Amino acid sequence: MKNIAIIGAGMTGLSLAYNLQEHNITIFDKSWRPGGRVSTRKHGNYLFDHGAHYLSTNHSVNQLNEVISRYNLGHVIEIDFATDYLKKEKTRKKIIIGKNGMNSIPKSIFENIKSKSYFNSKIIKISKNNNGTFSLFSEKEEFKNFDYVLICIPYLQSKELSSNFIDFTQVINEPSYDPIHTIMLSYKEINNINIKAGLNLHKDISFFMNQNIKFNELSHDCWVLNMSSEYTNNNIDIDRSALEKYAQSIFEKTFGIKNEINFIKSHRWLYAQTKVSYNSISKKNWITSRNNKIFLSGDWILGKSLSDAWDAGEKLSHHIKIL
Ligand SMILES: Cc1cc2nc3c(=O)[nH]c(=O)nc-3n(C[C@H](O)[C@H](O)[C@H](O)COP(=O)(O)OP(=O)(O)OC[C@H]3O[C@@H](n4cnc5c(N)ncnc54)[C@H](O)[C@@H]3O)c2cc1C
Repeated sequence: MKNIAIIGAGMTGLSLAYNLQEHNITIFDKSWRPGGRVSTRKHGNYLFDHGAHYLSTNHSVNQLNEVISRYNLGHVIEIDFATDYLKKEKTRKKIIIGKNGMNSIPKSIFENIKSKSYFNSKIIKISKNNNGTFSLFSEKEEFKNFDYVLICIPYLQSKELSSNFIDFTQVINEPSYDPIHTIMLSYKEINNINIKAGLNLHKDISFFMNQNIKFNELSHDCWVLNMSSEYTNNNIDIDRSALEKYAQSIFEKTFGIKNEINFIKSHRWLYAQTKVSYNSISKKNWITSRNNKIFLSGDWILGKSLSDAWDAGEKLSHHIKIL
């Protein structure tokens, strides 16, 4: 049995933990909860999936589907979906959503995994001990005796954390991300909008989705908007209230909304979605240290979706099992 530290309790880290349960697993996350970018926010009576919106029904990662049905974590809904709102193109689309919001998927997976865990624990340093094991350090604590360290956080942060152990000169072209500002907004009255989700609402809003189709308990009309990556890149440090006013005005103008808004909030995801994956550059499925003890994984290895994150973790787990 190996002592394995997993840094990051997003879908990649959870996939590794799920697949390596025969080992002694300890999970660390800087946040207070598992799920990372799969995030369901509750503000008073409002609920928003403002990270990942849904899991595609077309993905090919069988194990993720098995896990979702094994623990009864999600269901398929069919909605009218604008494949391009500006061009007036739409389709009927099936999507998989969490039973209680998207974050209920990683939350329940985590609850079903045997592991020790430390939340609110940002790992800031890794060091190698004389006996060959590794110690991890948060601001407050040292965690000792790990045989392997699996780092499942965005690429640039994992590079910073592991640069004493990994020769990054071998990574000539680096994977990259697009940032996204998300906007959560709610109206007391239900607006008469018949398309519930879609792409290209406006040149600066790449995605929109109604939240009432996900959460039966909502009595207010709740929506999430994603600003386009191009807009976000050009306005990365924009004042939040200016951003919120801008997004609200586009939303209301597009749908002719006259009702009064009663909630609006924004969030900036700096590392929202993979732009260039590591596998597309290198054909490799992980990055490893010279001694094969420290590994980097994440959605950025394979692509930009939840299923890519799960797949990246699953692939690395097969390799760890044979070491
Ligand atoms: C706005 C938005 C919309 C999206 N929409 C979709 C969608 O509709 N469908 C879809 O399939 N995918 C979507 N995605 C992408 C999907 O959310 C990600 O691909 C997936 O969640 C990535 O999982 P991960 O585990 O690789 O990374 P993350 O979820 O980022 O997990 C990394 C974890 O590491 C933790 N961490 C970071 N640094 C440290 C440290 N030093 N010490 C300890 N912990 C640390 C973080 O707190 C986090 O929990 C979306 C993403 C965003 C942001």
